[in-house]
Amino acid sequence: MGTNMKPIEPLVIKLAETRIDEEGLRQLADFYGAQDWLRRARQFQSNGAEFLIEVAGRSCYRSFGIGLNPNVTKIRESSKDYLTNVLEKGDGSILEHATVTFAFLNVSRIFTHELVRHRAGTAISQESLRYVRPRDIELWLPGDLEPVSGKFHEAIQEITKHYHDLEAQFNWDKMTFEQKKRLTSALRRILPDGIATSIVWTGNHRTIRWVIEMRTDPSAEVEIRKVFGKVAEICIRDYPLLYADFTCKELADGTRQYAPKFSKV
Ligand SMILES: Cc1cc2nc3c(=O)[nH]c(=O)nc-3n(C[C@H](O)[C@H](O)[C@H](O)COP(=O)(O)OP(=O)(O)OC[C@H]3O[C@@H](n4cnc5c(N)ncnc54)[C@H](O)[C@@H]3O)c2cc1C
Repeated sequence: MGTNMKPIEPLVIKLAETRIDEEGLRQLADFYGAQDWLRRARQFQSNGAEFLIEVAGRSCYRSFGIGLNPNVTKIRESSKDYLTNVLEKGDGSILEHATVTFAFLNVSRIFTHELVRHRAGTAISQESLRYVRPRDIELWLPGDLEPVSGKFHEAIQEITKHYHDLEAQFNWDKMTFEQKKRLTSALRRILPDGIATSIVWTGNHRTIRWVIEMRTDPSAEVEIRKVFGKVAEICIRDYPLLYADFTCKELADGTRQYAPKFSKV
């Protein structure tokens, strides 16, 4: 490996998640006469996302207790029973109330291009390779290329050399920011698709469930499978009821498929 080549791996960081406003929740419970339910519900809930989704769902039928809606004669008491039934029936719209934000770092433009095809329920902020002029060209080495890693790194070094040669033809110190941006964007045309970049991505839980299912499937590309395998681990750990129906299967290439019992809620 040449001096500039550092091995890198795609990274997944959970940046943010939905939380409940406790005072608002108390006011809502007062409004519906659901104070008893709220007292009991608190013991079941481990996170704001699942609690918010349950509250939003129960508000549809006032199903916080018997008698609040004369048409309701029984309710599912526990959050587990309630949310399992939501998934089973495919009432996924209430899952849209809660989101998770991830930073995906050291990912390729191949990955980001695939990710942004998922439109529904997402928010996206992608590193601009018009504004950001790379110093080193870093790439994650897919396992399939490990037997030829030497050749792979030689090719990258060759591209890096040509990139810096072209870059050196211009006097960057004399340029306006606008001119630098135009040239940076022009030069990136010779950069590889695999160049390490970053994207901040928010999805609601209905979306995240779907993207995990689609993108950890063995037919999907290996990098996005790797990244969404990590997303699945985080979601199963942090939102155990919302992802309770997912099962994990180890694949031959070391990635994992996460498939839900209830697809596309
Ligand atoms: C293994 C694999 C191979 C692929 N190969 C290719 C390929 O060769 N070429 C290619 O172009 N793409 C390819 N894709 C991308 C794929 O076609 C989808 O664009 C991508 O997976 C986004 O999924 P989605 O359509 O479910 O959209 P999402 O935005 O994730 O939407 C979720 C769901 O919301 C609904 N929805 C969203 N938007 C609309 C709408 N406008 N109208 C009606 N309903 C909507 C649909 O039910 C949709 O399934 C591939 C994807 C995978 C996983």
